[in-house]
Amino acid sequence: MKARFAVKTELQDILLKGRVVDISVQNGTIASISPSIRSAQQVILPLPVDPHVHLDKTFTANRCQPAEPGLFGAIEAMATDALNWNEADLRDRIEKALAEAYQNGISAMRSHVDWTQKEAPLAWSVLGEIMQDWRGKIAIQRASLTPLDMLGDVECGTAIASQVHKDSEVMGSFVYRNENLDILLEQVFRNAAHYELMLDFHVDEGLEPEASAFDRIVDLTQQFSMAGRVLCGHACSLSVRPMAEVSRVIAKAADAGVALTVLPTTNLWLQDNQNGKTPRLRGLAPMHELRAAGVPVLLGADNVADPFFSMGTYDALDVLRNASIVAHLAPADWLDSITTNPARAMGREINEIKIGGSADFVLIEGQSWEEALRNPNALRQVFRAGRTQSVGKEAA
Ligand SMILES: [Zn+2]
Repeated sequence: MKARFAVKTELQDILLKGRVVDISVQNGTIASISPSIRSAQQVILPLPVDPHVHLDKTFTANRCQPAEPGLFGAIEAMATDALNWNEADLRDRIEKALAEAYQNGISAMRSHVDWTQKEAPLAWSVLGEIMQDWRGKIAIQRASLTPLDMLGDVECGTAIASQVHKDSEVMGSFVYRNENLDILLEQVFRNAAHYELMLDFHVDEGLEPEASAFDRIVDLTQQFSMAGRVLCGHACSLSVRPMAEVSRVIAKAADAGVALTVLPTTNLWLQDNQNGKTPRLRGLAPMHELRAAGVPVLLGADNVADPFFSMGTYDALDVLRNASIVAHLAPADWLDSITTNPARAMGREINEIKIGGSADFVLIEGQSWEEALRNPNALRQVFRAGRTQSVGKEAA
């Protein structure tokens, strides 16, 4: 990595929202954007935002292997490893993750933090301190992640909601085919409404068509008038439920103001994962249909180097590349899934590429988005307030 600062930078032949332009950056601000008659040499996007990562779990893959493939084997392996977490270990791993995200141009991220007892876990406070150190570089938001049976319990759920409210963070839950699902979810929404919290669910992360908590969350979002404040992640079972049923709930979700995060790498790894068998079912929520119906679709890295997914990177462009392959996306049409949509879901604004705006963006070598994403080593320049940092083959 190398960093430099120039008072004035002229960028030529940039593909911006389907047009080829020249961009002039002066004193950290975009001074002008003018049409170019040449063909594009680089593509541009605002600094990406990742709405769904797990900084407490990251970089543990080498020391904990799940005994069984799939989601529940990973949950078990992680729970065993978590018994040994301490401040130094958490700090090392989280700092490594943030350094990687920063280098790749991430400007904001929401991290889930496992919260499996009444009191806040150590990782919550450690990440809370690290967040302050990273202010002005990456804006980090914490989301508690508690099994629904616990979060829907009146006493325990209220204690957690109250603490999350004190910390001005987001409340979240893992929801999968729970008994008494309706009662438990309603209690979660009641607390969210009382404490004015945003909600973020890991929901229906599996391939049983009976997993339909997403529908209930949509209904409750409507009932509690929480449009724009509820984010669902995964919803893998939408990929195996009858299409007529899916179409109905998607239309309702758009109406209720629920957004959905698709986590392609972790889903591809965990869904239909059985030893010695090639996966057939990919657990991908119907992204095209959701967006066509008006549901904001977001993309996230989810697990990076942990028992849930032992590879992965903190790189939204790598996530977009993977999503483009698995969901047949034209990447240029889906840049909002790694920029404006996640920013909005986090209650933030994004620095758009416009005259007078801060020069915060990523440039990647390539005449089109397909070409830019084709080669993971394509030269990438990250600009923050006009300061550049190169990533890729010329940066070494
Ligand atoms: Zn997750």
